Amino acid sequence: MKVVFLDRDGVINEFPGDGRYVTKLKEFRFVAGALDALRILTREGYSIFVISNQAGVAKGIYTRQKLEHITRNMVRDALSMGGRIKKVFYCTHFSHAGCDCRKPEIGSIRKALGSMNKTIRAAQKAFFVGDTESDILAGHNAGCTTIFVLSGGQDRRHMRGWEVKPDFIARDLLEATDIINERNISRSRQRKRRVLTIDQARKLTNGKRTAKRR
Ligand SMILES: [Mg+2]
Ligand SMILES: [Zn+2]
Repeated sequence: MKVVFLDRDGVINEFPGDGRYVTKLKEFRFVAGALDALRILTREGYSIFVISNQAGVAKGIYTRQKLEHITRNMVRDALSMGGRIKKVFYCTHFSHAGCDCRKPEIGSIRKALGSMNKTIRAAQKAFFVGDTESDILAGHNAGCTTIFVLSGGQDRRHMRGWEVKPDFIARDLLEATDIINERNISRSRQRKRRVLTIDQARKLTNGKRTAKRR
């Protein structure tokens, strides 16, 4: 099973600015290469979930309808380029609401995996790509491999103060996609290598036996 979780603002679309939100379609612009990344991940067989905090809804800055309008366009634009976003999970609650869907909580990750009949344990084979500490924490808390992208509002200096460091740092989602693919290639190589080693070990053992008999 191949799964990636993506934050939205600063990863897929351009970061709207500290404390600011994407409130209308006009303000939603894809990060350079993000559409390519979505297409590559789709082609490589990944299930793509978007997990995003959008407290601006609770604050009354924009409506849920506006948010859904923006989402429909994002999904459609991605699809027209060959990228399939399986499902988008938003937390539209206040930060102090105590819900389980606001990152760094992992309620949405659990839900996404549940939609594929998987438990949270499956997160250990998944990736989480985000541009803030709460993304990296959410990914970490769920057990994912985490990738911090520098296409959003934060950089390596911000990271210094983080309790949990990301597993990887990438310039943007496109570079993160390379890391994800390479990780999977090396994993399958490791699996193959292990099989080879057993074969070789058997040959070695047989060789020794033959030698003894002689
Ligand atoms: Mg973000
Ligand atoms: Zn929530």
